[in-house]
Amino acid sequence: MVNRRSFLQKSFKTSVVAFSAVAWGSLATAANKYSKVAGLSKKKKKAATCPHLIDLSMKNKGNETNNKAVAFAKNLGYVENVTKAVKTGKAHPKAGALCGNCMFFIPSAAGNKTCGKCKIIAVPGAQVSYHAWCKSWVKKA
Ligand code: SF4
Repeated sequence: MVNRRSFLQKSFKTSVVAFSAVAWGSLATAANKYSKVAGLSKKKKKAATCPHLIDLSMKNKGNETNNKAVAFAKNLGYVENVTKAVKTGKAHPKAGALCGNCMFFIPSAAGNKTCGKCKIIAVPGAQVSYHAWCKSWVKKA
């Protein structure tokens, strides 16, 4: 049998849980709306910090910087995403090797794990992905 006191206690706990779920849902929705309004999607963030990332597909054929960088990159066996390239057998790097831990990589900003410059791909303005790799990789000391 449920007495009045235990009934009230159960009702209170249920209300707190329900309120928390609604409040959390509202916060998450508000955060998503903010990101959309502020244009902070992951793709846009990357595009903002890595405007000159080497595009091996060469969608914009009139981009001379990219054309030169692609020529360098292809000679080096550069792959944009080393994890995917290993899975498909397109690259055979040492375990854990990527541009981000290569001695020739210069991050575009301290702690930036999206892109940077490569000392080997000597095309001013061209950027390599942090998660890329090429055959000239040498472990950063
Ligand atoms: S030399 Fe290093 S930083 Fe440059 S593309 Fe190759 S792996 Fe990346």
